[in-house]
Amino acid sequence: SELPDHIQENIRRRDKSLGPSYRLFYNTPVEVVRAQGVTLFDSQGNEYLDVYNNVPSVGHAHPRVVAAVHEQMQKLNTNTRYVQESILDYSEQLLSTFPAELGHIMFTCTGSEANDLAMRVAKYVTGNQGIIVTAGAYHGLTTEVASFSPSLGIGVPLGANVRVIDAPDALRYASDEKPLAEHLRDQVRAAIADLHRHGVGVAAFIADSIFSSDGVFDGPAGFLRPIVEEIHAAGGLYIADEVQPGFGRTGEEWWGFQRHGIVPDIVTMGKPMGNGIPISAAVFKPELLVEFGKNIRYFNTFGGNTVAIAAAQAVLDVIREESLMENALKVGSKIQSELRRITQDLDQVAEVRGSGLFIGVDLVTDRSSLTPDGNLAGLIVNRLREERILISACGAQGNVLKLRPPLPFSMTDADRLIEAMDRVLQELR
Ligand code: PMP
Repeated sequence: SELPDHIQENIRRRDKSLGPSYRLFYNTPVEVVRAQGVTLFDSQGNEYLDVYNNVPSVGHAHPRVVAAVHEQMQKLNTNTRYVQESILDYSEQLLSTFPAELGHIMFTCTGSEANDLAMRVAKYVTGNQGIIVTAGAYHGLTTEVASFSPSLGIGVPLGANVRVIDAPDALRYASDEKPLAEHLRDQVRAAIADLHRHGVGVAAFIADSIFSSDGVFDGPAGFLRPIVEEIHAAGGLYIADEVQPGFGRTGEEWWGFQRHGIVPDIVTMGKPMGNGIPISAAVFKPELLVEFGKNIRYFNTFGGNTVAIAAAQAVLDVIREESLMENALKVGSKIQSELRRITQDLDQVAEVRGSGLFIGVDLVTDRSSLTPDGNLAGLIVNRLREERILISACGAQGNVLKLRPPLPFSMTDADRLIEAMDRVLQELR
């Protein structure tokens, strides 16, 4: 291996103390020691362009977030059982980014916890147990949430009341008879009928609004609407998982579901919310919490603590003041059009898609068969790591390059990315 001895030693120590459940990125792992903006630095002093990390969404070590956390930590860090103005200011501002029907917010620490709470409320309110998800969905790691996260594979069995519909893969779905939206609606109908046949009602359809782990499927706009109508008709709720697309990443709107012209019953969010400080939330139509709130005491020790709220407030301020949503749209659009240009005659690139700074490049053995090529994606991810560009891959076959940088990604950063990708992709010819 080309890895320096001390990194090899640290990997051995890692295996010894952290055990076998953890995975490292890349054939040649990166030891990171520092980061700033869209740049990561390794222990050798090398710089990497970060085209992967969506958690430090307003940029690594953003001074506003650092200062907010530092100052709040010195003053007070406590929980939601005391009256505090900062959580109220933040909640009101965040809720104002949602359609008026969504009026309450509850704070948690991880996306998994937010989804766990959302599903708990959905089951409580509907009195039903059935859950419908897409085939490559990931919603989190608790026992309950993992049971409706099919992307975890055969090692994590789906719950008995979980039903799966196709990922919204418009590229591979080809039918003269009906549009993709109708096909998916029919699948949801069949899933509901199957649940009923087993004596189970539907509690919720939950979907990541950009279908990240499914392979980044941002469109066609509106395809979720018939599904949601079907779910509501069956007495279930629609939960929008905004952990991936939320907080302006898609460039057009604050939230990914908005592209579909629908209002969710519950929205969950996490990752970018505190720029790395653990904070997540679920937002509800208030009527859903009336009985739940009466009968269930919900206390989350760290959820919405004062320091986490300070970080989240700084993130909200920075997104607005630095026009990061607009930047995501502008730079993301440029990356997409440049990627299409450099890959137009490459038989292994079937499609470049996405929205804002969430972009997928669908890799195939050839354009006529559209057979997903996960090995090729792995090769490219590792080649780009050698070029000091950090990306990843997603999709059921791991064949979709995932480009999802911090939002302050500039046009110059985009040029560097495109230049490196062009060089690496040329090697395919
Ligand atoms: N939902 C989606 C769509 C996610 O991508 C993730 C994390 N990858 C989660 C939920 C779970 O979030 P967390 O890891 O913070 O528990």
